[in-house]
Parts: sequence; C-alpha cells; structure tokens
Amino acid sequence: MNKRVLVTGGAGFIGSHLCARLLKEKNDVLCVDNFFTGSRSNVSDLVGNPSFELLRHDVTFPLYVEVDEIYNLACPASPIHYQRDPVQTTKTSVVGAINMLGLAKRLRVRILQTSTSEVYGDPDVHPQPEDYRGRVNITGPRACYDEGKRCAETLFFDYQRQHRLPIRVARIFNTYGPRMHPNDGRVVSNFIIQALTGEPITLYGDGQQTRSFCYVDDQVDGLVRLMGVDQDIPVPVNIGNPTEITIAELAHRIVAMCHSRSVISYRPLPQDDPTQRCPDISRARDLLHWKPKVDLEDGLRRTIAYFDALLTRSSAEIHA
Ligand code: NAD
Ligand code: UDP
Ligand code: UDP
Repeated sequence: MNKRVLVTGGAGFIGSHLCARLLKEKNDVLCVDNFFTGSRSNVSDLVGNPSFELLRHDVTFPLYVEVDEIYNLACPASPIHYQRDPVQTTKTSVVGAINMLGLAKRLRVRILQTSTSEVYGDPDVHPQPEDYRGRVNITGPRACYDEGKRCAETLFFDYQRQHRLPIRVARIFNTYGPRMHPNDGRVVSNFIIQALTGEPITLYGDGQQTRSFCYVDDQVDGLVRLMGVDQDIPVPVNIGNPTEITIAELAHRIVAMCHSRSVISYRPLPQDDPTQRCPDISRARDLLHWKPKVDLEDGLRRTIAYFDALLTRSSAEIHA
C-alpha cells in the first residue's frame, strides 16, 4: 500500500528533492512549509501531481494531520538565513521538533530528523565520528542553529526512550546541487554565480578551511535508506561525502570549470567559522550500506548547468 509521507521544509532545497524521490517511489507526499527560505517554485514540477499536497504551515505551531511517516527538515540552513531571525531559528528547531514528535507519537509512526554536522561546532577531532561530542560556541552567532539542532536531537532520543517512538536522526554534512538558493550565501552557490557572471570570487579568510561536499541525490538516498531501516536506531548517523577539499581549491576548480576570468577577492573569515569538517561515514556504510556515488566534479558540473540556466532565464526576463 502507498504510504502517506509528511515532509516538513519540503519546499526547500533538500526537501524538494526528497519530495520528488518519494513521489517517484509511489508514495503520497504532504509537503509542509512556511516558505521562510523555500519557495513554491522549488516544487512547481510536483504541484500538478495528484499524489502531492502542499500546505503552508509553520512547524512552531501544532499540526494535526494523518500520515504514515515524517521527515522533519523545516529549518533555515545557511548562516545568513538562520542568523536573520535567530530566535525563530531556535524555536523552529526546538518547538518544531516537539510538535512533530507529538504528531508522530499520536500516530505511532516513524519520524526522521535532519540534524547537522554543525552539532560538532569547530571540531578538534577529525574526521568527525558520531560519538564525538563537538565544540560549539554556545553564545556565538551560529549557536541559534547549532544549539537548536542539538536540543532537537536530545528531544528525539528522549521521545525514543520515554515513549518508545521509532526515530531516526541524520547528521547532514554540507550538501549542494540544483535548487540551492542563489542568494543564501553558501559557498558553492556563491562561487558558481560569481564565476558565471565574472564577478570576484569572495574567499573568506585564507581559504585553507576545509569542507566535504555531498551531492543532493546522494544525500536524499541516505535519508530514505535511514528511514527504511527496520530496526531501532538508538544513535545519530552522519550522511555526507568524505572527500575533503579546502575552500581555496574549491574556488579554483569552479573558476576553471566555468571557464571564468573571475579573480579571487579575500574577505574576512566570519566568526566561529569551522576550520575543518569531514564526516566519518563508517556507521552509514555499515547500517545503511550507503556511500555517496556522485563525485565533486560531476556534481559541480550538474550544479553549474542549473545556475547557468537560471541566470540565462533571469537575464531573458530582465530584457523582455
Ligand atoms: P532550506 O532553507 O532550503 O530548506 C528549509 C525549509 O524549511 C525551507 O523551505 C523553509 O521555508 C522551511 N522552514 C523554515 N522554517 C520553517 C518553519 N518554522 N515551519 C515550516 N517550514 C519552515 O535548507 P536545506 O538546505 O534544504 O536544509 C534542509 C534541512 O537539512 C534543514 O533542517 C537543515 O538544517 C538540514 N541541513 C542542511 C544542510 C545543507 O548543507 N544543505 C546541512 C546540514 C543540515
Ligand atoms: N502535537 C501536534 N500534533 C499532534 C499531536 C501533538 O502538533 O497530532 C503537538 C502538540 O502541540 C503538543 C506537542 O505536539 O504540545 C507535543 O506532544 P506530546 O503528546 O508529546 O506532549 P503533550 O501534548 O503532552 O504536551
Ligand atoms: N565561504 C567563502 N566564501 C563565500 C561563502 C562561504 O569563502 O562566499 C566559506 C565559509 O567561510 C566557510 C565555507 O566557505 O568556511 C562554507 O561555507 P557555507 O556557508 O557554505 O557552509 P558552512 O560554513 O555552514 O559549512
């Protein structure tokens, strides 16, 4: 029988890919979003599908619906978005988690939380395994996101222990691909747009900080597999691509792939910017038999093609 699946934050970047994947697997999808950072256009291809329903709703308010499974993605994810209204960011993570857990508890259904590598803060263990407890600055500008997500994890594991709720917690590492926001300040979208338009590439700090970038299809596959495991999972699971790269190297690669003449423009490093980040994915390999399939070159090529088409479309609209 088809499942009816709730995806909160379903009109966002990862959420829209997840909705598409779930529909492809013949599920009914209820996408709930308040459009804080997501948009109808992200799911415009899905809207005519009779198995897809879109509901404008803020997860900090209770939600009474009937579903068989819940993916809780609602939360702004990029620093400029989650720092725009930091109090709302923490509320979304914490109160949103309580409401979605309450819903899952009433329905006795599986619920998956998209947590984040940010729970590790600026890590002094490298790469980061799930049992590393992190180094988050509790009072800094990133804390609304990091601590909100940490508290949400606590709630998930307490609902599991206290109410025997079937929960899943994925710790997502930097993910990129088509439908990333053009203006959310994330490094992959910034660099691609700057390279395609010939603008200077804004490299923060000396560019020696590292990240590990996971293509969105791999990310969604990891989330779906984690949800599908038919046993209790009393631990969080890292989902990310362990290929690590410095931000300076990423800038050079993107400039070369876009055949761009953009120059590098050095800018100050934002406060609390982690110096290194790379997932240890042994647990995902063992539990989910999952590993990323799309390498950075291929993923960047697909993402560059997306932004190229987007820029061509918007310039055609401006000149129309
Ligand atoms: P996104 O900003 O594109 O999507 C988040 C969605 O949640 C948006 O559509 C937004 O409108 C919606 N939303 C925000 N607050 C809401 C609220 N109160 N009620 C209802 N909807 C709300 O971000 P994304 O990159 O797609 O991230 C999805 C999830 O994955 C987030 O929970 C994020 O923390 C997590 N994550 C993402 C990354 C990444 O690299 N993209 C890394 C780690 C974790
Ligand atoms: N909740 C919801 N939908 C439901 C059931 C609960 O949004 O179908 C919310 C409700 O606002 C509640 C929260 O989830 O405050 C937590 O629910 P739980 O049953 O865990 O706690 P309680 O209702 O006892 O506070
Ligand atoms: N970054 C950069 N230039 C930009 C945007 C980001 O050098 O225009 C750097 C940023 O300082 C960080 C890395 O790229 O070290 C990844 O930033 P992003 O905001 O994409 O993700 P996060 O910091 O949340 O991992």
